[in-house]
Amino acid sequence: MVGAGPAGGDLARRLALEGVDVVLVDRLGDLTRSAFSSAALPIETMASLGLPAEVVGSRWRQWQLIGPGSATRTWASPQPLGVVLDFGALRQWQADQCRRWGGRVELGLQACSSHQEGERMVTVLRRSDGTTLRVSSDWTVDASGQARALLGDPPPAQRPRDGLVRAAGLEWLLQVSPACWERWADRLSFCLGSDWVPQGYGWIFPMQPGVLKLGVCRLVDPQRRQPPLGGLIHDLGRRLLAGGEGGNACGEPLAVLDRHGGLVRSTIRRREAHQRGRLVGLGDAVSTANLLGGEGIRHALTSSAVLAPLLQQALSAPGRSSSGQPAERALRDYAPQLRRALGWRWSLSGRLARHTWLGLHGPGADGRLDQVLRGLENRRAEDLSALLFGYRFERYGLRAMPYLLGWR
Ligand SMILES: Cc1cc2nc3c(=O)[nH]c(=O)nc-3n(C[C@H](O)[C@H](O)[C@H](O)COP(=O)(O)OP(=O)(O)OC[C@H]3O[C@@H](n4cnc5c(N)ncnc54)[C@H](O)[C@@H]3O)c2cc1C
Repeated sequence: MVGAGPAGGDLARRLALEGVDVVLVDRLGDLTRSAFSSAALPIETMASLGLPAEVVGSRWRQWQLIGPGSATRTWASPQPLGVVLDFGALRQWQADQCRRWGGRVELGLQACSSHQEGERMVTVLRRSDGTTLRVSSDWTVDASGQARALLGDPPPAQRPRDGLVRAAGLEWLLQVSPACWERWADRLSFCLGSDWVPQGYGWIFPMQPGVLKLGVCRLVDPQRRQPPLGGLIHDLGRRLLAGGEGGNACGEPLAVLDRHGGLVRSTIRRREAHQRGRLVGLGDAVSTANLLGGEGIRHALTSSAVLAPLLQQALSAPGRSSSGQPAERALRDYAPQLRRALGWRWSLSGRLARHTWLGLHGPGADGRLDQVLRGLENRRAEDLSALLFGYRFERYGLRAMPYLLGWR
């Protein structure tokens, strides 16, 4: 298993639990470091995907949308609606589980290539001192995230709209006073509108007491000159936390504990090959990240829940099955099953993401977004969760669909 992110870590622990001989490798030397993901999830994911309380940074029960302009809207629920995970703790917990069930975890190893020799895979790994190691296995899983280290990028699409859509994100972990933390606790806050983050959005999420996550993310648009993310995040911090804008400002200098970030890359239609012989892709490596809210953890975990039983079946069919079919045919249901598990709304929301974020670069788009948000003002916080996490756009009526799909 190459990559100890949410996808690879989850598959490794599931297979180890079933007694499969698993080796999980990652180029990171320490899984608690480089915790690039903001890791907001709906609360029901915790139980449905079997995540423990120890990976939770904080819980939230409110949505706060700041912008376009100075408008601030909040929706509160009496019940917790979601969690913000400690992403490093999640990866560490998954790796520990894999070890406890008898799997091996080897860190500081970068996968360079992988090829099939007969019925076996040979994967070449490089240590930090430059020396290499060859690992022979029945199967190799590329769970290296958007890097797609072994499967590679899908070939240039026949139709440009099927290509990889990229979003770039940057996040700072901030130490704040208890009073400041209280103002942002209990809620997911997003900044929307071109005067905050053109072609994207900003956020403040609470972590453990005294720590906030401040972030910006936007779709990459090769047609436009885009301002650097570093400047945008600095401005956001100045306006929302250090300075005087918005009701939640704290008037404190920014104390940055950690800076991290990364890319999210997905195809919208997800038609790329999920497998090449005995090499199989998982999580972001096969475009499970959704670009609407830059959200990929639960979808990566879903891909592992779909693949685990299929891979187990394939492992119990040595070489060729009795019908003479190569064992890799055992995974032919993987891509269609995953497509069904993600659902038709997943792909709809990807199209909506491209339309919404790429178009958000001026007052006209801000005005349209403001209108949509005004229409949501009388809804409950749970409805917003259903819209933003469940992608239930059809609830807003068929008349809204053409706008949402970008036909208007
Ligand atoms: C700034 C930002 C904010 C985000 N916020 C959220 C959010 O709030 N909620 C949410 O659900 N999702 C969020 N995401 C997306 C989410 O983090 C990803 O979709 C998710 O982590 C994908 O999981 P994965 O296991 O497929 O890949 P990854 O988490 O990317 O894991 C891949 C692993 O593979 C390793 N690796 C890569 N190449 C190699 C190699 N050659 N050899 C060995 N190891 C390798 C990497 O070190 C990494 O540990 C965010 C992403 C970013 C960038």
